[in-house]
Amino acid sequence: MNEIYKSSSGTLTAAELESYSGSIAAFIKEKRMNTAAIICGKSPLVFAAIRGCLMAGVCYSPVDEALPEQRLQSILSNADIVLYDSMEAGTRAGYSDLREIIQNRRSFIPSVEDPSLPVYRIYTSGTTGAPKGIGVSLRNVGNFLRWFCGIPAIAEIKPRSVLNQAMFSFDLSVADMYYSLYTGARLTVIERGLMSDLGGVFRRMRDSGAELAVFTPGFAELCLCDSSFCAELMPKLRVIFFCGEVLKPMTAAKLFKRFPGLRIINAYGPTEACCAVTAAEITPDMTEGELPIGDMSHTAGEISLTENGEIVIYGESVAGYTDGLPGGFCGGGSDRCFYTGDLGYIKDGKLFFRGRIDRQIKIMGFRIEPADIENNLLKIDGVIQAEVSVTRRGSRHSLSAAVRTDGNITAEEIRAALLELIPAYMMPGKIVVADEIPLSPNGKLMRSDRTDE
Ligand code: AMP
Repeated sequence: MNEIYKSSSGTLTAAELESYSGSIAAFIKEKRMNTAAIICGKSPLVFAAIRGCLMAGVCYSPVDEALPEQRLQSILSNADIVLYDSMEAGTRAGYSDLREIIQNRRSFIPSVEDPSLPVYRIYTSGTTGAPKGIGVSLRNVGNFLRWFCGIPAIAEIKPRSVLNQAMFSFDLSVADMYYSLYTGARLTVIERGLMSDLGGVFRRMRDSGAELAVFTPGFAELCLCDSSFCAELMPKLRVIFFCGEVLKPMTAAKLFKRFPGLRIINAYGPTEACCAVTAAEITPDMTEGELPIGDMSHTAGEISLTENGEIVIYGESVAGYTDGLPGGFCGGGSDRCFYTGDLGYIKDGKLFFRGRIDRQIKIMGFRIEPADIENNLLKIDGVIQAEVSVTRRGSRHSLSAAVRTDGNITAEEIRAALLELIPAYMMPGKIVVADEIPLSPNGKLMRSDRTDE
């Protein structure tokens, strides 16, 4: 069968995708909505809903179904309509069930929309304690796709089957999802539910017939713990596209051994510049030293470095925050740019990463602002002061929190209350109440960021 989409909860043929997304687009247009939120797992209807929003020219936000209710609501309240698949998310009163929408078949002809308007809005961790929305336009996505399809390994192989790992609410998924929408390549997805059992992940990989996989380095490291993650599992795999966090030389070296002939791409970019702006092909001889994140001869945007070495991105890939805050964005027109907060250097035409200028970190590819956690700790009754510290071990990070309380709340109660406010991946490994930890001379909690060698 001509499947264009494969997931645990079913498949889609190209004709089904066309029909379902057309019905969803027509439904949204009938309702005269401008923005939609999609409560996202990875069911076929969610994929059709994303395509439906693109057809209708409506800006969608893919929202992780597992977010704590309060954080979820703060994002959903920005949308005119909330779409969900009841098979995946259970019945949600007041929101529009995609299963019902596609029962009334409607046809829809997309109209040309303003390419500078956002087509999707992805929420990421912000320093204020509220999720930060980044609006990405069709122009940004088109620029990304042209660049992505021109990366030599992708251009030479022209993969017809792609494996997705990232959640649709994480901008890494733009690479596999939009590549599939743009080229018609089959997209096979790995859902969160499969992650608890590598056996299930490997079965999906085997069934995918993938020629291209889009992974975070952390995910590949997890898979490499099992010896069955090798060429026999995915005999057609030709390219892995990595992005989102540091790719360790050892991870690349192990992959070359397990998948002879594999081509590895280490890409770099923030959500604010549409998924990725630079990419370097890693070859086995490079795995002795630090790996580059970009080849300066083929970039999706113009890259420059400030005097301090901060990476600045200019050009068509630069998106915008939807709450109107400038953040790292500067200038207008062709001078519009984004100050990434990342430090880099260029050597022999290749871009290298050397950390952040601020405290933003990555855990399993998820972007986390420690201040986001601090501000959420302060929302908890009984918490008076909060400091979140970062421990760096090589390229890996962990978090701990120090909290001063009114004496009526325990560390366990704080942990339980915090889980209602932030996603599980942001939860500090350790929460300590202040009477057990030192205060500064002026009575403030001391932050203890550390680097362990
Ligand atoms: P996000 O917006 O969640 O995609 O996170 C973007 C941030 O991830 C960047 O600003 C970098 O700090 C980090 N990042 C992305 N790709 C890489 C890479 N290949 N190597 C190191 N850090 C990366």
